[in-house]
Amino acid sequence: MSKRGFFGHPGGLSTLFFTEMWERFSYYGMRAILILYMVAPLTEGGMGLPVSDAGAIQGTYSALVYLMTMVGGWFADKLLGLRRSVFWGGVLIMCGHISLAVRGAGTFYLGLLLVVLGTGLLKGNISAMVGQLYDRDDTRRDAGYSVYYMGVNLGGFLGPLVCGWFAQQPAFKALLGSWGFSPESAWHFGFGAAAVGMFLGLVQYSLARGRFPDEADRPLGIANQAEHRVAWRQFLIAVGAAAGAVLVTAGLHAGGAVTVSPVGFAGFVDVVLVAVTIGVFVWFFAAGQWTPEERTRLIVIVVLFLGATVFWAGFEQAASTLNLFADRNTANTIFGIPYPASWLQSVNSAFIIILAPVVGLVWLWLGRRNPSSPAKFAFGLLFLAAGYGLMIAASLLAGESGRVSPMWLIGCYFFQTIGELCLSPVGMSAMSTLAPARMQGLMMGVWFLAISIGNKVAGRVGGMYESLPLPSLFTANTAFVLVFAVGLALLVAPIRRLMARAS
Ligand code: GLN
Repeated sequence: MSKRGFFGHPGGLSTLFFTEMWERFSYYGMRAILILYMVAPLTEGGMGLPVSDAGAIQGTYSALVYLMTMVGGWFADKLLGLRRSVFWGGVLIMCGHISLAVRGAGTFYLGLLLVVLGTGLLKGNISAMVGQLYDRDDTRRDAGYSVYYMGVNLGGFLGPLVCGWFAQQPAFKALLGSWGFSPESAWHFGFGAAAVGMFLGLVQYSLARGRFPDEADRPLGIANQAEHRVAWRQFLIAVGAAAGAVLVTAGLHAGGAVTVSPVGFAGFVDVVLVAVTIGVFVWFFAAGQWTPEERTRLIVIVVLFLGATVFWAGFEQAASTLNLFADRNTANTIFGIPYPASWLQSVNSAFIIILAPVVGLVWLWLGRRNPSSPAKFAFGLLFLAAGYGLMIAASLLAGESGRVSPMWLIGCYFFQTIGELCLSPVGMSAMSTLAPARMQGLMMGVWFLAISIGNKVAGRVGGMYESLPLPSLFTANTAFVLVFAVGLALLVAPIRRLMARAS
């Protein structure tokens, strides 16, 4: 395995960098046009869904993406190892985008399902592979993750530009017309572009097999063949049970006993998420033989979990509420030339690339005065609220159906990105620091659960775009996030004392 290959990092890092770049290209490229496609009228090639349904579907899709990362982690640990799980995850993602590229309700939902399953297999496991490139005491590991994070955001930047151009730009629609295609099918070329991106990622990933350590090829969570067989059996039983549940539900639906609909399913997933969350925390408190101090720390974990959930619920509205605002209430021209509304979905990633080094330097410069992790959570929420504060003004200016300068959204994303840079990099580690050693593995799941619920709520809130006046929607967002920011800020000192004792 080459030790020096990519900015002084193991060569495998460049492979993972570009694989994840293409995967994020496809994820964020498709996400940039998803809700816009769902609400676009049938005459414009969209699905003609009411915005509340579209929000519900968008939230369910993205919530399941993050929930599936936990299953994907188990799959790699017990069954296939990291390298193959990432490969097959990429294949499923590509097939999902191909399915979306074909017009029709069936192919649409099948496409979403495949992207959910594939991202579950790929996203968490590929970042675990980054860690495997370094020996335990290699000091380059953190820097390696920073480089990798740039790949994430390069993909997040390019995807909406490319997929958005295909899906929405009049110039491309005209081109389609001149080729004899219907211009309204442009959406599907946008989804197709996402598939091509994932394909390119897979090609370069497959060509670089030899760049990874042997352990990437082994399921590390099993001790022997017998355990491997047990795990496969568990997996097949779970798949069989899921298939059975789908068949029974389909049968009941066909017989008229129940009505299954995407929106009904969204409601079902709401209930599942609430039940999983309550289950996890009840189990935390009831099952463990915790000391009184551990119990106090668990309460802090609940507080941080709530903070993170609220953060993602606001932040992930980039794809729902803010994307709709870009499409309906923003004047999308630059120097008089029109550009697709979905291009504004690139702004967050662009700011991450620009600001991540700046924020890193600020923490370094603050030295011993560097804020504690809970303080960074509070800052994250404050910046998020500031972004929504701007949107109150923007929506008042826009009125019922007016359009405002894109600088409002860009300003909003600027604040939200600073918020992301405060909260996201420390989030998971802050929760694990507080958790007892025997719960470490679970904390990763709890972190993803917060992101999952956040995405779910973000979809639901976006679904209120037409039922609430926009200034009220943005005021509610601002106020809600602000309340949690202030609450958390008040808890910073007590939490810091607890964490000091924990370490
Ligand atoms: N933008 C980052 C990524 O796609 C983080 C997203 C998140 O953690 N919710 O990896």
